[in-house]
Amino acid sequence: MASGDAFDLDVAIVGGGPAGLATAAALLRAVPGVRLKVFEAAPAYREQGAGVLVQANGGRALEALDPRIMHRLVSVGTITSGMVPYNDTTGEKLPWVNGKNPMADLDAMGYANVLVLWNDIRRTLYDALPPGTVQFGSRVVEVAAPEPEPEGGDGGEGKDGHKQQPAQGCFTLRIADTGDAAAPLAAVRARHVVAADGYFSRTRRAFDGEAGLPAFHRTVLWRGSLSREEVAAAGSRLPDALNPALNPEGLRCTHFWSPATADKPPTGPPPRGIMLFPAGPLDPDTTASGLEGDAARIVWNVFFSVEDEAAADEADGKPLADRSIHTAGKQGGAALARCLAANTHLPEDLRALLAASPPERVTEHGLYKHPLEGFIKGAWARGRLVLLGDAAHTAPPDGQGVNLSLEDAVVLGALVRAHGLGPQAFSEWEAARQPRIAAILGDPTPQGSIRMPLIRNAAFEPLWSAEGLEAAGSLPPDVAAEARQAAAEAAAAAAEAEGEAAAEAAAAAERKAVLAWSRGEVRSLVLAKLEGRNLLVSGPRPDGMYLIR
Ligand SMILES: Cc1cc2nc3c(=O)[nH]c(=O)nc-3n(C[C@H](O)[C@H](O)[C@H](O)COP(=O)(O)OP(=O)(O)OC[C@H]3O[C@@H](n4cnc5c(N)ncnc54)[C@H](O)[C@@H]3O)c2cc1C
Repeated sequence: MASGDAFDLDVAIVGGGPAGLATAAALLRAVPGVRLKVFEAAPAYREQGAGVLVQANGGRALEALDPRIMHRLVSVGTITSGMVPYNDTTGEKLPWVNGKNPMADLDAMGYANVLVLWNDIRRTLYDALPPGTVQFGSRVVEVAAPEPEPEGGDGGEGKDGHKQQPAQGCFTLRIADTGDAAAPLAAVRARHVVAADGYFSRTRRAFDGEAGLPAFHRTVLWRGSLSREEVAAAGSRLPDALNPALNPEGLRCTHFWSPATADKPPTGPPPRGIMLFPAGPLDPDTTASGLEGDAARIVWNVFFSVEDEAAADEADGKPLADRSIHTAGKQGGAALARCLAANTHLPEDLRALLAASPPERVTEHGLYKHPLEGFIKGAWARGRLVLLGDAAHTAPPDGQGVNLSLEDAVVLGALVRAHGLGPQAFSEWEAARQPRIAAILGDPTPQGSIRMPLIRNAAFEPLWSAEGLEAAGSLPPDVAAEARQAAAEAAAAAAEAEGEAAAEAAAAAERKAVLAWSRGEVRSLVLAKLEGRNLLVSGPRPDGMYLIR
């Protein structure tokens, strides 16, 4: 961001992670013409060694933003067919397999879980935004609340949402140019602020101090990734479990090593573990990626329980100076060295894989979570400020962090469309989100029997119209024509009814036609990935068994 830049905005979004980017896309759909910017501290997006599972709820949320965003992610993602467990000292394969049947998922949900590189989510959302929406290298260092509203002011701005607002009603954000320490701070005035600045949200701290911080989850996590070429270039080889020559399904499963043994399955979260899974197109030559710089990756996560934050850091005695996910702990060679030092028990082929990882993609950080008791009125929505994504509800890395952030964005978009930008939409959003997120993150059952139906049956109001999608090039012309025809027929059938009912019937018919096309596309993409491939047979999983909850 050039020093001295000044913006007057309807909405300033702090943080360009998945939550901030998806919210930008949702608000641009909900309030056409809204003056909005995303301020992102990082100078650019770069791949970090992380992959995420886009589950049905995240996929549906992306679809509600724009079906093409989801299709693009599905096309670069990997469909795995289950989790294979091993003992983490002997390497012995354990007798239960947490098998998944992507075909059954497709039939039941019209969707199958897709593993993608975490950065690909950001890149795909970023590419869907108008150029210039994201201001990189812009760290928000201060957010000052607006003057109190004049008498009778501010129930929301009405559906246009972007009319000129009086200056006294604006937040003031001070923004540092992270690429130029000597640059003067830029000031931005914004009528609304969306805090999407991650789990140690500076915006949240500005209003709540330490009280808004998440609690340490007694776990240290290392993440990294590497391609098969990088494994070979390091003079290493794939671990036997992943080696297609030894195990044809090896690169199509998730693999999980823990201290469990065949006669001692885990009955609670294991104290340590390592998970390996493929992400990104397995074969970049035959799978159209469309994303520059993509390559198939083997992603690894290693976690280790510790007593407290001090223990997490005792290896080198330095306190965690700034507990933001990006600066906590270590990254690079130091993180990799600590990971190897803390995990000497692992079988040699796994250690060799970790050691071969490019250090620039290795991160280490402590895990934190916002206690569910803090999910109370006013915690996430305060007048014209709203906190979402990890800034509101950081969760352990059990697969829902990204998915819930995407949900946050589309639910907010739908409420803003209904009520206009402002406190009413924000507080209704909070009231809708807190019980659902608490139910998903707080599910005490080992099998996830509360959370899984909520995830699988997630449904969101689409933020698009067929016309808008067509104009944006997101809808093939024949599908647009079909949708128009379906709408016209539905409107004619409802002609007897009141005008509004006919319009609603037409909109519903149009949506149905677009969704049928969208889900057909997902099905073809998934089937193409599954073609010719055996699915794992699910083995009986011991009762009460946890993986990484
Ligand atoms: C490196 C990494 C790996 C992850 N891996 C996984 C995974 O494997 N599985 C999983 O489920 N979840 C993972 N997560 C967590 C998951 O990505 C989050 O739950 C999800 O991304 C929530 O998104 P968010 O946008 O709220 O927060 P984040 O993804 O943390 O994004 C916050 C953004 O805000 C920016 N920011 C922070 N402070 C400021 C500021 N003051 N001014 C401007 N910008 C600021 C940050 O640079 C960042 O881009 C990972 C997160 C990170 C950072």
